[in-house]
Amino acid sequence: MKHLTVLGSTGSIGQSTLDVCRQHPERFNVVALAANKDVEAMFQQCTEFKPEYAVMADEEAARQLQTRLHADQLQNIQVLGGREALNQVAKLDQVDMVMAAIVGAAGLISALSAVKAGKVLLLANKEALVVSGNLFIQAAREHQATIIPIDSEHNAIYQCMPADFSSNFSSGISSDPEDLGITRLLLTASGGPFLNKPTDQLKDVTPEQAVAHPNWDMGKKISVDSATMMNKGLEVIEARWLFNAGPDKIQVVVHPQSVIHSMVEYADGSVLAQMGNPDMRTPIAHAMAYPQRISSGVKPLNLFDIARLDFVKPDFQQFPCLGLAFDALREKDSAPAVLNAANEMTVAAFLDNKIRFTDIAAVNAEVLSGISPETSESIEHLMDIDLQARSLAEKLIAKRSI
Ligand code: NDP
Repeated sequence: MKHLTVLGSTGSIGQSTLDVCRQHPERFNVVALAANKDVEAMFQQCTEFKPEYAVMADEEAARQLQTRLHADQLQNIQVLGGREALNQVAKLDQVDMVMAAIVGAAGLISALSAVKAGKVLLLANKEALVVSGNLFIQAAREHQATIIPIDSEHNAIYQCMPADFSSNFSSGISSDPEDLGITRLLLTASGGPFLNKPTDQLKDVTPEQAVAHPNWDMGKKISVDSATMMNKGLEVIEARWLFNAGPDKIQVVVHPQSVIHSMVEYADGSVLAQMGNPDMRTPIAHAMAYPQRISSGVKPLNLFDIARLDFVKPDFQQFPCLGLAFDALREKDSAPAVLNAANEMTVAAFLDNKIRFTDIAAVNAEVLSGISPETSESIEHLMDIDLQARSLAEKLIAKRSI
């Protein structure tokens, strides 16, 4: 039996995680659930999974949840409120694994708490590595935490790594991937809903069109990131830290069918790919059961139905956010944190109908060039830089307001 905390349980990844738990009650015990404000969804999850702890980062939401649980005779579930409570349930002694599925930089500190407690971290929150990759991986090494990537691309790469890599995988490769015979990581991208849309029509797309991803069913923020391809940019940065691969060793490959989730190219000419239907329960079940394999509820892949697989080079003109991520990665390590903060602000503003779709990349670029890159000294230092970037982004968003 593995004992689990799910951070971000009410979100898309959180719900898929609980679905895998639901299918294997003899293997997984849910100790703690955590979210922000969605009291109704958390209440339903508490009723079904009866965790020891339920956390709402929003204090008022925590009070409402407590009242509802009491009214339903579920007072044995301890309700905690506030951001510190997220850290508390990430490092509980009785917990083996922590699913980090809070969206955005808000998920960083609790994921880091799990790492510092030496847990097995199932990492969906890519922003944690984007903001603080170097420090995060150092902390994982120091505290002997294990990180298993959940993002489908990184989980695919993890599955295609040499056997001795996977079995020793504790907080990233420290040696050069070339020593393992790896020449490149091929990160696949669907291209999102606007892959074939003429560039001059992008300024008029609506939030509803942007969140309608052709292959994956995801939260709103990551769906917009997929439409701008910022998501792929964030994943390039994530791969850099997880697999110790410099930007020149990472190739983005647009593959609209989303059947190959990513590939590893070896020196002998072999390219290993991980394939499957696009459903996050596959990487989640893989990581939760690792090193065993369990059913996930995902339909088997029917290659005859798929019939063909296409691959094209990414268009950096159409998707400038992708180029910004490579630019940030070549700078000192505060630059990705700046880009991430700007992007969180611009995506929220776009979803709020305050700016146009094309303003996301334009403001992200202005913020990235407007804040001098620095070498990060601590998480606090990075959080400070994150605030500076948000404040600059806010001003630039106000100027472009529609
Ligand atoms: P969702 O928007 O669906 O869910 C976000 C979750 O985070 C919710 O449970 C939400 O709680 C919680 N949350 C938001 N802000 C806070 C906060 N300040 N404190 C505590 N909890 C908070 O996101 P996704 O599930 O789509 O994505 C989660 C992460 O996984 C992201 O980093 C994303 O990039 C990554 N990811 C997602 C994939 C997907 O298929 N969805 C694929 C690969 C990676 P509440 O509901 O109460 O607001």
